[in-house]
Amino acid sequence: MKKIALIGSTGSIGRQTLEVITSLGEQYRVVVLAAGKNDQLIAEQAKRFRPEMVSLFDNEAAERLKKSPLPENIAITSGLEGQIAAAEWPEAELVVMAQVGFSGFQPLIAALKAGKTIALANKESLVVGGDLLERLNLLDRKRIIPVDSEHSAIWQAIGTAKQQEISKVYLTASGGPFFGMPGEQLERVTPEQALKHPNWSMGPKITIDSATMMNKGLEVIEARWLFDLELSQINVVVHRQSIVHSMVEYIDGTVMAQLGSPDMRAPIQHALTFPARKKGLIKAYNPFGSLTFEEPDRKNFPCLDLAYRASEAGGTMPAVLNAANEVAVKYFLKEKIKFTEIPVVIDAVMADHLPVRDYSLEDAVKADLQAREKAELVAGQLIGRVR
Ligand code: MG
Repeated sequence: MKKIALIGSTGSIGRQTLEVITSLGEQYRVVVLAAGKNDQLIAEQAKRFRPEMVSLFDNEAAERLKKSPLPENIAITSGLEGQIAAAEWPEAELVVMAQVGFSGFQPLIAALKAGKTIALANKESLVVGGDLLERLNLLDRKRIIPVDSEHSAIWQAIGTAKQQEISKVYLTASGGPFFGMPGEQLERVTPEQALKHPNWSMGPKITIDSATMMNKGLEVIEARWLFDLELSQINVVVHRQSIVHSMVEYIDGTVMAQLGSPDMRAPIQHALTFPARKKGLIKAYNPFGSLTFEEPDRKNFPCLDLAYRASEAGGTMPAVLNAANEVAVKYFLKEKIKFTEIPVVIDAVMADHLPVRDYSLEDAVKADLQAREKAELVAGQLIGRVR
């Protein structure tokens, strides 16, 4: 039996993980459920899956959870300590990390130190902290199974190949709902339009990131750390159908791709059952029809190059990229800034930051906070401007 700790159980990936676990049957058991602040949903999940521990990051939500009727013998924890306890829970062999944001970083460190295998869906922890994990000698790539669909594809296409046999990787991007749209039209797109992703069903933040292509930029940085690649080895290709989830080119010229229906439950299941494959919920891909591959539009979607630039600059710059993006997306979702102003905010915040090399966790947290303050300021100026 595989015992699983699931952190981020109430979000989109977390809920789909529980669906997959249910479909896999009795060989897979949830021993920990952890989430941010949704006490009602986690209480329902606890009744269904009967874990040994539930944890909520938000202390007030955890207090409410303690008062709700739960099955007997379930420990309840809260705060960062609770998330860390979830990550290093002795009974769990696999930890699914599906929380959003850099708050997932310390639990990731705890899980790595505790020797767990990790199914990683939290990309911010690698974007912001990949360099630090590497320097701390914690980046054990055999034990971090990616859940992000592109990285899962690369992981599967690499299999047992050796590092020096890989020549490059192609991360596929759907292009989002606005690929091919002229620049002047992009200025007027609404959050409602941006939230309609053509292929994937995901949370709101990542759906906006897909529309700006920042998601692909963050994934470039994620791939760099997950697969120990140079930035110059990582290419992005727009593939509108989201069937080829990514490709690996080997030094002998062979390109290996992984194909499948665009369904997040597929990479989730792969991470849960690895190295085995099991019958699951995924509808097989029917190979009749066209697949297309195009260059990304770097001019109208500058977030992609901002991410390359941040990773190239290194140190704390990716933390700044990530934080500025979160603030800019927040204001776009509130209809305070335009879609095309998201990269404007990020660019201005990055221009203001001198990256700290060989940074500590504290440096990363500080860079994140400063970037958020600066982004608030820059967004504020855009909002205050006469249109
Ligand atoms: Mg992805």
